[in-house]
Amino acid sequence: MPKDLQVLWENCLSVIRDNVSPQSFKTWFEPIKPLKIADNTLTLQVPSQFFFEWLEEHYITLLKKVILKEMGPEGKLEYSIIMENNFNSSKPYAVKVPTTNKKELLNPSVHMPIDLGKNKSIPNPFIIPGLKKINIESNLMPNYTFENFVEGDCNRLARAAGYAVSKNPGGTSFNPLLVYSATGLGKTHLIHAIGIEIKKNFPNKTVLYVPADRFANQFIDAVKNNSQNDFINFYQLVDVLILDDIHLLAGKEKTQDVFFQIFNHLHQNAKQIILTSDKPPVELQGMEQRLLSRFKWGLSADLQVPELETRIAILEKKIYNDGIELPKDVVEYLAYSITTNIREMEGALISLIAQSSLNKKEITIDLAKRMIDKFVKNNAREVSIDYIQKVVCDYFDLPIELMKSKTRKREVVQARQIAMFFAKQYTKSSLATIGSHCGGKDHATVLHACKTVNNLMETDKRFRAYVEELEKKINI
Ligand code: ADP
Ligand code: MG
Repeated sequence: MPKDLQVLWENCLSVIRDNVSPQSFKTWFEPIKPLKIADNTLTLQVPSQFFFEWLEEHYITLLKKVILKEMGPEGKLEYSIIMENNFNSSKPYAVKVPTTNKKELLNPSVHMPIDLGKNKSIPNPFIIPGLKKINIESNLMPNYTFENFVEGDCNRLARAAGYAVSKNPGGTSFNPLLVYSATGLGKTHLIHAIGIEIKKNFPNKTVLYVPADRFANQFIDAVKNNSQNDFINFYQLVDVLILDDIHLLAGKEKTQDVFFQIFNHLHQNAKQIILTSDKPPVELQGMEQRLLSRFKWGLSADLQVPELETRIAILEKKIYNDGIELPKDVVEYLAYSITTNIREMEGALISLIAQSSLNKKEITIDLAKRMIDKFVKNNAREVSIDYIQKVVCDYFDLPIELMKSKTRKREVVQARQIAMFFAKQYTKSSLATIGSHCGGKDHATVLHACKTVNNLMETDKRFRAYVEELEKKINI
């Protein structure tokens, strides 16, 4: 590979690495090979058509920015796709596809959520002189809609409040609306959905989404450039301000002061404020009391970890939207195995699709298990009680509801005891937690179940064979 091509691509990769998760980088960018550079056009070789489509769909904004940065405005990108089913030929047969420009919203200077940090070629919008309201780009992600946001018990209140706000921004008692939860549970998605819905209902309203760390950095720049007033005026212009991850303002007193001022101005003028944080307001550390007390004026609603049905529904929606088909048992396996973070669950799904595309293998439950195991090791995850119950119920052909019920039918009692035995062995859950998952039993019942299973394994060969076979299934 010519040196300048290699250097160019490495520069590109280093920017990309800062803007995508390590998992995505490994999956989507490491397999790319730079082929050549000629006539201001960089040609990248990608492993498959699917791969090309995925890049175009998900990373084109980033790629364009990187090309712009490294090659200037004349820079172009072209893909060379290794055609599938062509393993015999020694040279890859390649088709060339110039990068498309199908989405007009890919204006590189404003599209979200890529933040090139200190890249000065991206102007801060608030220092454009004579700025009129209409020109403010909302920074909303078009696919983070209400439609794509699956409803469940875990998010009902926050979702309903958000929906109400989108019908009447600034006019409900949910001002500010603060959505809080642990990471990966849908805060960013939900507040984008509110913004998108407001734009739909009120096209003339100015909606602005900004992550709190970006807000803080913009403020620092404004101080440096002596343009604090422009900064404040800019934010006071909007009708709907969406500030994501306000816990990132912790300890930043000056930024909190300026946000306080903007908050008051917007609130007094019946403009809508939407916020997210990783904790409820009372637990936010390093935030000024007067700000925290303002947050109490509106509504704080949390997002909980979604229950199994919702997790399955989220995966199914995603698969459907991406036009992919996946066997039901694979979807269920993903939803059973990854329980506490939707982003991780989606990450596993994407890796699975990529794996199968790269290796040209069908997506089967075995592939899913192997792949998730890798994920699991990375994330130090454990087998869940839910999953154990499912395997045991499938094996004995029992509905899972029976296992979770209080019924004392003999065949259910035995299956339940086996599930408790494995849950004790393979999860870190307490005996009480295991019991509560298995028909509301107490810890003594779980202990008794484990003893019974151990005894039976010693005395009953057939029983032992069942348990050993099940053990294999759980451990695949
Ligand atoms: P957070 O901001 O709380 O860290 P995100 O909003 O970034 O979480 O959500 C992580 C991922 O999970 C996103 O891809 C999002 O689309 C998806 N997600 C979260 N909740 C839902 C839901 N209820 N329905 C569909 N997708 C969801
Ligand atoms: Mg977020």
